[in-house]
Amino acid sequence: MKYVAVTGGVISGLGKGITASSISRIFKARGVSVTPIKIDPYLNVDAGTMNPYQHGEVFVLDDGTEVDLDLGNYERFLGESLAGNHNITTGKVYRSVIEKERRGDYLGNTVQIIPHVTGEVKRLIREVGESSGAEVAIIEVGGTVGDIESMPFLEALRELRMEVGKKEDMAFVHTTLVPVVGAVGEAKTKPTQHSVRELRSLGIQPDMIVTRSTNPISSEIKQKISLFCGVRSEMVISVPDMSCIYDLPLHLEEEGVGDRLMQILNIPQRPVDLGGWKSFTERYHAASGEVTVAVVGKYAELKDSYLSHTEAFHHTQGGVGVKVRMQWFDAEDLAKDAELQKRLNSVQGILIPGGYGRRGIDGKLFALQHARETGTPLLGVCLGFQLAAVEFARNVLGLPDANSTEFDPGTKNPVVDLLREQGKVVNLGGTQHLGSEKVVLTEGSLVSRIYGRKDIRERHRHRYEINHEFIERFEEKGFRVTGHAPDGRVEVLEMPKHPFYVGVQYHPEFLSRPESPHPLYVGLVRAALARQGGGTPAP
Ligand code: GLN
Repeated sequence: MKYVAVTGGVISGLGKGITASSISRIFKARGVSVTPIKIDPYLNVDAGTMNPYQHGEVFVLDDGTEVDLDLGNYERFLGESLAGNHNITTGKVYRSVIEKERRGDYLGNTVQIIPHVTGEVKRLIREVGESSGAEVAIIEVGGTVGDIESMPFLEALRELRMEVGKKEDMAFVHTTLVPVVGAVGEAKTKPTQHSVRELRSLGIQPDMIVTRSTNPISSEIKQKISLFCGVRSEMVISVPDMSCIYDLPLHLEEEGVGDRLMQILNIPQRPVDLGGWKSFTERYHAASGEVTVAVVGKYAELKDSYLSHTEAFHHTQGGVGVKVRMQWFDAEDLAKDAELQKRLNSVQGILIPGGYGRRGIDGKLFALQHARETGTPLLGVCLGFQLAAVEFARNVLGLPDANSTEFDPGTKNPVVDLLREQGKVVNLGGTQHLGSEKVVLTEGSLVSRIYGRKDIRERHRHRYEINHEFIERFEEKGFRVTGHAPDGRVEVLEMPKHPFYVGVQYHPEFLSRPESPHPLYVGLVRAALARQGGGTPAP
């Protein structure tokens, strides 16, 4: 097993995750199999309970683990599905150490950060790496070098480099910031120097430094970083700001990162094939025309909360060849702001993403009614789908108090409810339905045409579901169930009289990839284009 560790310095938010994902991609382009591991130095065991405001979207894997959004980037860049053990958090490590201590596994020894916690980190890394059967594990350490939280992880990686023996089997890539300051616009290397010094004080000498800056840095600046930080100047890689994250693997390849990492890891060079990736990015940039899709959510100010949706639209832009502009609507404001409501008239499509809790639902209901009545193409995801049922029950079935029991436990018309058997709640205690599961689509339905098949697998993250008691009335009035789970759960609702009004209980956004945009996003954008009069209508 060979390892590449990617650390970050100076500040967070430098795109370390995208860098690590891009490195993974350029290995893959050489036929070198890689397995990414994301280390999150927080005490949460997983990201399931984390507030999207603080941490961005919670990403869900096939196996149902709720993880950091960076794992989503890995999946998108690699085009592969990962499992929950690819995310190692401090909480997970400590939990396992404490369980071992309670079982007596440490034979009465004093349990310490070194060697026990670091030992556990190494064990987890090796376990994931080796069980994947990949040649190279790419380990991204969340946070910034110097943070107290990341110390045990960096120490574990230092030890790991020693253990893997020849230094050639492990590479350290450090990402830093090179800011431009002053009237003359001078690029400053001092933050990089400090951050590398910090890393060296922990016993880690980086092999490669990836500098983030607004514009490319000059060769003089590279020389300077090389001199002060002890890396050869060709190992200083300049990554300027880019308009599209998917350009990064191509850029790193041009800068020679792939060949150099292969050398460090002692892997014989192999031919590179980034053809499919390149043609995706070319199509993305060449996209002409534009459709605007409204995204109505309660975390509209923090776009990372809906990262996978955003990325799915980017993939679709490459796939369909039309620019997709997302217009963010704050769901809470939309409920009460008439000006904002009017602005919905100017969009060609609407996406209502998932969510939890009462806040913002009135705005989402408003957008759903607007889409239904005006024929604006709509995709409702998870909560967006559940609320489509609520809106329909209220305004078409004439049940003004219809609701989800998540928001009104006492409603007489619980169109969305917890799973009940003979009146008793079965999934009490809040257990969520998580992970990938089969969905069977109805033949001849819009969704089956869009997917081009009947049997699909999609990822789930929900607790509530459509109440079967209302389905007959929905169908009678033209809101059809066109997708089921094998256990009978309603997975898809669509409105055949409407150009494109589709709600799905699952989360399609997690499965969209640059080279294969998700069919529902493609469907929505095509329908939006048709509404504008400029394109092929939805199939
Ligand atoms: N709050 C809803 C539920 O628990 C929807 C969840 C979601 O949108 N992810 O079922």
